[in-house]
Amino acid sequence: MTSTTDSPRALFDRLSRTDLPVRTPVLFDTACVLGGSIAGLLAARVLADHASRVLIIERDAVDSEDNLRQGVPQGRQAHVLLPGGLAQIERWLPGFTREAQDRGGVLARPDQQAVYLGGRQQVPQRNTSLLTGTRPFLESRIRSRVLALPNVSALTAQATGLEFDDGAVRAVRYAEEQQEKAIDVDFVVDAMGRSSKVSRWVEEAGFQRPKLQRLSTNINYATALFERPPGAAELPVALSFWRLAGPSEPDALVLAVEGDQWLVLLYSYEPDRPPASIGGFRETCAKLPPIFGHAVSGPPTCEVQTYRQADSRRRDFTGLARFPARLVSVGDAVASFNPVHGQGISSAALHASCLSDYLVATPPLNRPATAFFDLQAVVTDAAWALSTEADTARQDALHGTELPEDVAHHRWAMHQVLQATLVDQSISDVFTSVVHTLAHPSILAESALVERAIAANKRAS
Ligand SMILES: Cc1cc2nc3c(=O)[nH]c(=O)nc-3n(C[C@H](O)[C@H](O)[C@H](O)COP(=O)(O)OP(=O)(O)OC[C@H]3O[C@@H](n4cnc5c(N)ncnc54)[C@H](O)[C@@H]3O)c2cc1C
Repeated sequence: MTSTTDSPRALFDRLSRTDLPVRTPVLFDTACVLGGSIAGLLAARVLADHASRVLIIERDAVDSEDNLRQGVPQGRQAHVLLPGGLAQIERWLPGFTREAQDRGGVLARPDQQAVYLGGRQQVPQRNTSLLTGTRPFLESRIRSRVLALPNVSALTAQATGLEFDDGAVRAVRYAEEQQEKAIDVDFVVDAMGRSSKVSRWVEEAGFQRPKLQRLSTNINYATALFERPPGAAELPVALSFWRLAGPSEPDALVLAVEGDQWLVLLYSYEPDRPPASIGGFRETCAKLPPIFGHAVSGPPTCEVQTYRQADSRRRDFTGLARFPARLVSVGDAVASFNPVHGQGISSAALHASCLSDYLVATPPLNRPATAFFDLQAVVTDAAWALSTEADTARQDALHGTELPEDVAHHRWAMHQVLQATLVDQSISDVFTSVVHTLAHPSILAESALVERAIAANKRAS
């Protein structure tokens, strides 16, 4: 059981553990998950330990393995599954990595990963492998494992509302083949993504609406896939190129993915846009380290797909005095970040861990799930800090904002740590463990680490 006096870092470490719970009390007849994407599927996996029956209501028909579907418009864009998220997926679905590799997913060892900051290569971290694949590939692997559980089933229908009784959710309303229906439920997980309507439904029923916070990101994505000739096994297979200072040229990401393909992402912030043509991709990549040019040299296997995300957003479910019992939200319905940091799936996976922690403790189910929301806030705060710090700094630089002394000092210290990843192995390892969602971001601000970073930068200058 989690103690409320634990620090965010201790709670984060606890939620990141990879052993399965020993005791999993069955608390519900029917638990219902609204939204059958990655967050919903992982929540359903956890609920399968605590309910006789778990029903996933998803509006898209997702029957084929490589479905690119309407409900996930970001699905055609590059998705990185960070090691912290992979560790949690492996926790709940043991053997996931091996199965994905057997179907063409690529496990990039540390020495096959390269990160360039401002044109210089970061000292390669020593500890974590990356599983790479397209978003539909990763999602379909998770789906097939979760739906194979004997007490989990899926219904193709649109969730249209909730019914409440005595302060708790009692039923879910949904539209199936143009017919309005309802099902009695004992617990509901909202996993309907960043545009989830649950806040509105809750408010209309007289409960408190969670506060929505938005931070402008205005990021433009373009993703394309190219043939990857066999025999490139010793080349790096996961690369990112961050310009760091006021780019007018796009940043880039290259991943080896299933089907012997390279997946290439170019992205820029408004008013800049990445090229939307294969020719433009080749021109941009030719100016980057040679492996980027290599990745776009083969025939394309699809058209360039573009996407724009206007903001990062989070809903705050903590401290709500009037919120329905037996209802929680997970995944992007709670927080959706600047996608360049690749944190969405890993946060969703950690939300599943929060759900498990909450249910294993046999909570008072007829009261709002405060203990769950408090745990989840630890995960969201950590990802939000990483995602929004860089965005806020960029905007401050753009507008010439004068910074309070403590903020200016913190940014200077983080700059020292970032620069030291170019010259110091141990700092690169620690920094990457945070970026990979394996460790809490507060370790980057520890004075001993910052001092080591300053010393490493001085030695290297
Ligand atoms: C451009 C882009 C790039 C990204 N890159 C990365 C990355 O590199 N790494 C990473 O980890 N994350 C990334 N993300 C974030 C990632 O896509 C999400 O965090 C992840 O999909 C988990 O989201 P989710 O399951 O909460 O919601 P979603 O994936 O958005 O799914 C919501 C689901 O709910 C369903 N739904 C909605 N309303 C209803 C309804 N009324 N009834 C029934 N079903 C409904 C939808 O059909 C959908 O299936 C990226 C996001 C974007 C936009």
